[in-house]
Amino acid sequence: MDQPAEILVTNARLLTCEDRTVVDSGAVVVSGDRIAWVGPDALVPAGLRTGATVVDAGGHTVMPGLVDPHMHISFGEAASEEELYLHTPMGYRAIRATVDARRVLLAGVTTSCDPGGPRGIATAVRDAIDVGLIEGPRMAAAGRQMTTQQGIGDTLPAPLGDAPTSMGAIVRSRDEIIQVIRDEVKEGVDMVKVAGSGPGTTEYGAFTLDELRLITSEVHRLDRPTAIHARSRQSIADAVEAGFDWLMHASYMDAATAEKVAERRIPIVPAMTLLVNFLEAGPGWMPQDALDGIKRELDSAVDVLGKAWRNGVSLVAGSESGFAMTPYGEWHTREIELFVDLLGMPHFDALLCMTKHAGSAIPRFGHEVGTLSPGKYADLLVIDGKPDENVKVLGQRNRLLMIMKGGKFVDLSVSVPERIMQSYERTRIYTRGLHRRKS
Ligand SMILES: [Zn+2]
Repeated sequence: MDQPAEILVTNARLLTCEDRTVVDSGAVVVSGDRIAWVGPDALVPAGLRTGATVVDAGGHTVMPGLVDPHMHISFGEAASEEELYLHTPMGYRAIRATVDARRVLLAGVTTSCDPGGPRGIATAVRDAIDVGLIEGPRMAAAGRQMTTQQGIGDTLPAPLGDAPTSMGAIVRSRDEIIQVIRDEVKEGVDMVKVAGSGPGTTEYGAFTLDELRLITSEVHRLDRPTAIHARSRQSIADAVEAGFDWLMHASYMDAATAEKVAERRIPIVPAMTLLVNFLEAGPGWMPQDALDGIKRELDSAVDVLGKAWRNGVSLVAGSESGFAMTPYGEWHTREIELFVDLLGMPHFDALLCMTKHAGSAIPRFGHEVGTLSPGKYADLLVIDGKPDENVKVLGQRNRLLMIMKGGKFVDLSVSVPERIMQSYERTRIYTRGLHRRKS
C-alpha cells in the first residue's frame, strides 16, 4: 500500500497514555514513521493540516500500539519441555517464528521484547522485521538464558546438558559466565537474560550473589541491560542486590526486597497470565501436584505484587506468549486484565502498564514507543471501546479497527496460515497405554 507522507488522524477519543488524560476530540499528525503532533482537533496547526491524508477515527479511541515486553517468538506454542528444548530443527523454528510474529502484530502489539530463546532466532526475527522482510512488532531480543544446573535453562536430564537447540546456556565457572556474555553480545542481543531460579523452587537461587554481581558488571560494561527469571525468594533478593535491570515473575519476593525494588525503581514483569491459563486449562491435562504448585505460586504472586504495586513498584505487563497455554496473538492483554481483577488496579493504570511503563522499560526503544508524543514512532491503534475504562475490550479482536506501525497501516484483512503441527514438533510418544497380553 502506498503511504502518504503526512497523515492526520482526526475525530479521535485520544489517549496519549502519557498520563490518565482523555482528549474527547483529539487528533494525531503522522509524518513518515514518527508522530509529528498530538492534541485537540481544533488546535492542529494549519501547516500540518494542509495536504495531509485525513483518517477519520469516527469518535473511537486512538491510543498507542501495545507493548508486550515478554513473549518468546521461537517457542512455537510448545506443550512440553522436550518440545521446547530438543525437537524441531532450528531453521524450521525461525520460519515458524516469522508467521507467529505477524499473529502478534495483528493483536495490536506493535513493540515487543523476547527475553530468551534458542541461539540466534529472536535476533534474526527482529532484524527481518526491521528491514521489512516480514511483518511483526518491532522487537528487542535476548538470546540464550544463562543458567546453572539449578536454573530453568537446564531442566533436561543431566547427560544431555545444554543441547544446541536449548534456550539455556549452562555456565560451570566464572570464566564461562564471562564467555557466554561475550558470545551473546557478539550475536547482537539487546539484553542478557539469566535463569535465576529453577522450576518449582520457592527458596534458593540458581546463582550465588557473587556470581550475579559478576554477570551484571560484565553485561553493563558491554552496555546492555540484564533481565532475570526469578521466582524464588533468594533469587529475587540477590538479583536486586546485584543490580539487575528487570525482574521477571518475583512471585516469592520478601518484604525487605520489595522495599528496595520500590526505592531503586526496578520494573517487575510478572507474567501471571501463564499461571492463570495453566489453572484454567490444565485440569485433565496436567498432574494435580503441578497444578497445586502453580496455584500456590499465583496466590503468593497476587499478594506480593499487589503490595509492591501499592508501594510504588512499576509493574510491566507481558503475556509470556509462545507456550501451548499462551498461543501467539491471543493472550497479549490478559495480563492487564489480571492486574485489574487480581491486584485491584484501576483500568487506566493497568493500560499504562502495557503502554507507557512497558515502553520505557523495554530495551532498544526506551524513549521512542509506548505513548503518543511528538518524535516517537507512529504506532497507534483505533479501538471501538474505552480500554481506559475496561481493558477487556483490547482482547476482543473485532474492536481493533486500525493498527498503524511506524506510520504504516497494517493490513487487518490478511489471513495468517492456520497452525498445523509438523510431526517433528511434538515429543514423540509411542502410545498412551500398555498393550497387555490376554491369556
Ligand atoms: Zn518467559
